[in-house]
Amino acid sequence: MARKWRLTDRTKMLLKLELAITLPAVALMAFSIWNLKHIQRDQAIEAAIQRDFRYVLSIAEKKSWLKAIDLVEPVKKEFPNIHEGDTKIKAQLDHILREHPEFAFAVVYDKNCHVMVSAIQPNREQDEDFWAMTEEAISNTSSWLPLEAGPMASQLRMLAEKGEYYPAFYGDWMVRHNHHVYSNGAYFIPPGAGKDEAALGILSFDDDYLQSSFFPAIIKDVLSSKTNGLKNDANPPAIMVHPPKDSTPWVASANWDGGKPEVDFTSNHIFQDLVWSIKYTGTTIADIGAKFLRYNYTILGAISLLMIGGIFLTYRNISREMNLARLKSDFVANVSHELRTPLALIRLYAETLELGRLNSKEKYQEYFRIIREESERLSSLINNILDFSRIEAGRKEYEFKETDLSELVRSTLDTYRFQIEQNGFTFEENIAKDIPPVNVDREAIARSLLNLVNNALKYSKDKKYIGVSLYRANGSVKLEVSDHGIGIPPAEQEKIFEKFYRCGDPLVHNVKGSGLGLSLVRHIVRAHGGDVKVESAPERGSKFTIALPLEHSTRTGMATA
Ligand code: ADP
Repeated sequence: MARKWRLTDRTKMLLKLELAITLPAVALMAFSIWNLKHIQRDQAIEAAIQRDFRYVLSIAEKKSWLKAIDLVEPVKKEFPNIHEGDTKIKAQLDHILREHPEFAFAVVYDKNCHVMVSAIQPNREQDEDFWAMTEEAISNTSSWLPLEAGPMASQLRMLAEKGEYYPAFYGDWMVRHNHHVYSNGAYFIPPGAGKDEAALGILSFDDDYLQSSFFPAIIKDVLSSKTNGLKNDANPPAIMVHPPKDSTPWVASANWDGGKPEVDFTSNHIFQDLVWSIKYTGTTIADIGAKFLRYNYTILGAISLLMIGGIFLTYRNISREMNLARLKSDFVANVSHELRTPLALIRLYAETLELGRLNSKEKYQEYFRIIREESERLSSLINNILDFSRIEAGRKEYEFKETDLSELVRSTLDTYRFQIEQNGFTFEENIAKDIPPVNVDREAIARSLLNLVNNALKYSKDKKYIGVSLYRANGSVKLEVSDHGIGIPPAEQEKIFEKFYRCGDPLVHNVKGSGLGLSLVRHIVRAHGGDVKVESAPERGSKFTIALPLEHSTRTGMATA
């Protein structure tokens, strides 16, 4: 039986160890592996997001090119022949601009024929600021045209020969009234220009049109398109366009929320020096990374805490087990001693009796009494040990029967009374008359009472008093055993009910005992649905009270500790 008991305890211990240490360790390992994989994947995600963003911006740029060419190409064809004369050219340019409000001005230039005709957007005649700015731009243009028109025209012809012909564009940033202004225009060979003539037609976009209509439309188009590789539809990115050295948006999508762009992309064709930027709204990839790290640290912290808790639990468990092991070895030593002493006495007195040399009848009586008392002690100890092992194995059975407690207590004490008084104890018995029958296991209750009385006998020094009372108190019957003995320090009053526990008092260690009595009493009383309590003060004495409920269901069977 002892083997079985040890095995279950070991299994329990192993299970606890496994739960406390192994599980968090396994969790930590799994988490770390997952973490590593995740970090790699995250970097890949970051690269993928940036690649996608770059792709989106390149699409936006291409769209802007195509749109600019689409706007210029048909108008270029409407340009007047350079030989038509200044007045006609001017009228045609005015007509073109009126039809196409997206352009700010148009110029026709031919160095050889001394043609230099320009026209300003007539729809904006009232806008003085616009007018002044455009006149300034035209005067700038006319200042570089005589020098640049020749090389520019030959470059255009070269492109045309290579089959790459499309209107060439120029683009430039200016600051006006503290605002960035982007001027952009197309230049091409005008109709009627001879093979090597230094002639150019110029069509310049209206800056307002680019800022408030052209680019916003492209950005909107790109962001709403499903085929541009944007994967994260839940959080669509924001796009803006700005000058190279100033990240203040010149044109931005409605969801642009400031902050550092994830990807910048500078256009170097058609809209030269125009920087496209893209980012997620509300967050950045770095933020996502930081959040990920924070999240991981939290999980790591929680797992570490779990592990610390596990280690603490294991430590507590192991020290408890070690304590128990020490108590068990004390128990073995105590029990063997306790078995040996009465056996030796019984043998000694029996041998003396056998020799038949005693001269008085009283002596015979005394020797018989000692033998009886010692054998009683032996059987009560053996009963305790048997009960204890049954309880530990979970096989202790109680037989509840309707019992007259007054009679039970009285008859139990009767067998003991003589011994108590012989030891010089004052004995007081107080049994109330109104005790109703209670459902109890007779033998178990008698054993509990004997354990308590025995303890009162063992742990008393000079003031030899034992009082036993049985009375009724709110719904229960109380059985009290009090003494004026050595008492129990408050810190130990709960522990004395644990198995093998014996108080640290040196007197206790001079008294024989196994540390099982009270743990049995508590087990028995709890199996009856009641409880046992102690009130005690060192050097003043102790009072143990067993409370048994009156309405305890009638049941027979196994009871567990
Ligand atoms: P044992 O008496 O065999 O040591 P018990 O379980 O009956 O074991 O008691 C546990 C401990 O409680 C005792 O060792 C003793 O220190 C303390 N104790 C029990 N009863 C009393 C009492 N009446 N007065 C003082 N101490 C007591």
